Amino acid sequence: MHPGPLGDSVLFQRLVAMAAAGREPLTVALGLGRDALERLLRRYLPDRLGLLVTLSADAGRGADALEEPDLRACLLECRAGRGEEEEWLAAIVARRSLKPNHLWQDLGLADRGELTWLFRRHFPELVVRNRFDMKWKKFFYRTLCEREGVPICKAPNCEVCGDAVLCFAPETGEPLLALATLARHPRAA
Ligand code: SF4
Repeated sequence: MHPGPLGDSVLFQRLVAMAAAGREPLTVALGLGRDALERLLRRYLPDRLGLLVTLSADAGRGADALEEPDLRACLLECRAGRGEEEEWLAAIVARRSLKPNHLWQDLGLADRGELTWLFRRHFPELVVRNRFDMKWKKFFYRTLCEREGVPICKAPNCEVCGDAVLCFAPETGEPLLALATLARHPRAA
């Protein structure tokens, strides 16, 4: 089993660092309201409370994409029941799922194993449901489409589907946070 990040502090450190590396306000990048973000920072990253200074007093989480509420609900159905962290994580994962890269990359994680660790710890039923280890974004969208009765797949099941490689190929690549840091501080790397 992947050792994963060194607990929730490191996990939230990575998620916040990745979101803060972009151009959107941090609340929008994380899909969290200002109050929730402040509670998260106070609990896990007190040394980064200064990030709140960059936000306006009424900074909101931005408008939901069409699928975000369903995606959050889908995640929370699978929650471990460890606390408010799961609500933050459901919001963050749903918002970062809208980005174009592998989900683990857009969350700022080091590799896919860390994402699986996150899901095992906070949304264990999700890992059970994705027992064939489909790519996470594919799994989310397939789940949502199935619920709505929308036929997105070209085949009746994955075994006979010509697109299987798109849905099940390894989610490999470079961590985006490392690349973003390298781009900003080329001599530091
Ligand atoms: S492999 Fe084919 S049938 Fe399975 S989820 Fe992907 S597109 Fe759908």
